[in-house]
Amino acid sequence: MFVDEAKIYVKAGDGGDGAVSFHREKYVAAGGPDGGDGGRGGNIVFVGDTNCSSLIDYKYKRKYVAEKGQNGSAGNCFGRNAPDLVLKVPVGTVVKETSTGRILADIADGEPVVVAKGGKGGRGNAHFATSTRQIPKFAKPGFRGDEYDLTLELKLIADVGLVGFPNVGKSTLISVVSAAKPKIANYHFTTLTPVLGVVRVDAEKSFVMADIPGLIEDASKNVGLGHEFLRHVERCRLIVHIVDVSGIEGRNPKEDFEIINKELEQFSFDLAQTPQIVVANKSDMASPEQIADFKDFVTAKGYEFYEISAATKKGTKELVFAISNMLDKMPPVKRFEAQPLTQEELDQKLINNRSFEITHDEQDKKYYVEAEWLWDILRSVNVDDYSSLQYFQRVLVSSGIIAKLDEMGINEGDIVSIFDFEFEYIR
Ligand code: GDP
Ligand code: MG
Repeated sequence: MFVDEAKIYVKAGDGGDGAVSFHREKYVAAGGPDGGDGGRGGNIVFVGDTNCSSLIDYKYKRKYVAEKGQNGSAGNCFGRNAPDLVLKVPVGTVVKETSTGRILADIADGEPVVVAKGGKGGRGNAHFATSTRQIPKFAKPGFRGDEYDLTLELKLIADVGLVGFPNVGKSTLISVVSAAKPKIANYHFTTLTPVLGVVRVDAEKSFVMADIPGLIEDASKNVGLGHEFLRHVERCRLIVHIVDVSGIEGRNPKEDFEIINKELEQFSFDLAQTPQIVVANKSDMASPEQIADFKDFVTAKGYEFYEISAATKKGTKELVFAISNMLDKMPPVKRFEAQPLTQEELDQKLINNRSFEITHDEQDKKYYVEAEWLWDILRSVNVDDYSSLQYFQRVLVSSGIIAKLDEMGINEGDIVSIFDFEFEYIR
């Protein structure tokens, strides 16, 4: 079965916890802290695999969780990093975050891509000794690994995409110009899954052609077959629009041509902008007048026009050469850019993944906030800038620090201390 969409859940491994431990040795009275750091959690990594042509595996197994990093241990021993969890997908798979539709990765080749990062290990108590705190009895827990609900969408990688109504001869054409052998029959919707064929032009040159199931009217509105397959021509550099010029099925080639283009437009603006040539097929069954009439119609619209008979192979060689020449002047197959998180979203993730501790010093009326992750954010804050401070304020609210301070009974005017930054609490 050909499956080109799947929804899965991935969770990268959490970091291992830092250790609390003290050096013990004969004749050494009070050894220092020597708790090691935890190891990094396993990443979720995607890799394109040419041996795999469908996302079917991901229909059956939907949950993927990478291992946790090993905890740190005594003697400054670091925990081991957990292995990555590698998910093999067909080349051309686009990985999206389900909730936002944001593209996280385009697995267009065999390069592994980290989609969800494993959490860093927590630091052992060896890090927390200071001149005033010689016996740190705490260590940090590991950071949480990223988690996502993902939508995987296969968008085949082909130079040329064949589009057209059912039964116009798309499968026949690809079987004549390449080694691909899709089912060909004189009834609609014989091609139920996209088929790729490598078209040899000469000893050095070739290109990849995709035969996708026939489009029907309103395919882009998901009526019947078609819409779901349009994604497979999204990357194509050139659309080859096949029309049955003989009208042997009682159809009007001009109407067919307009309907298909409307479908492309409705599916996506980009797709409608892809360069297109028009191929009149079944010329063996059409009168010269029919062909000339359709040719005039198409060329008046500015399209290049070719006339073939896929069944008798007439004109197919010329078509292949013409396509190859056009491709030579075109940009490579489209890749989808990953859409990175904004700084604010990154910070929010950091906040969601991380904890804090607040201690209250009765004597100097200060509230000490300890949150290692806040350091990076605080460093980027300009305390002399109003909007920057406001942003910091939002971080304090969304991370729950303000709520916790309230809960601890903080009063107006009390001092909140975060690293070397202190401010007066104002309601
Ligand atoms: P598709 O649905 O667009 O893939 O169309 P097919 O390739 O399955 O062809 C549909 C029918 O049209 C089949 O019976 C083919 O044999 C026939 N056909 C395809 N090309 C030609 C052609 O150039 N001339 C004639 N007379 N019939 C053709
Ligand atoms: Mg077909």
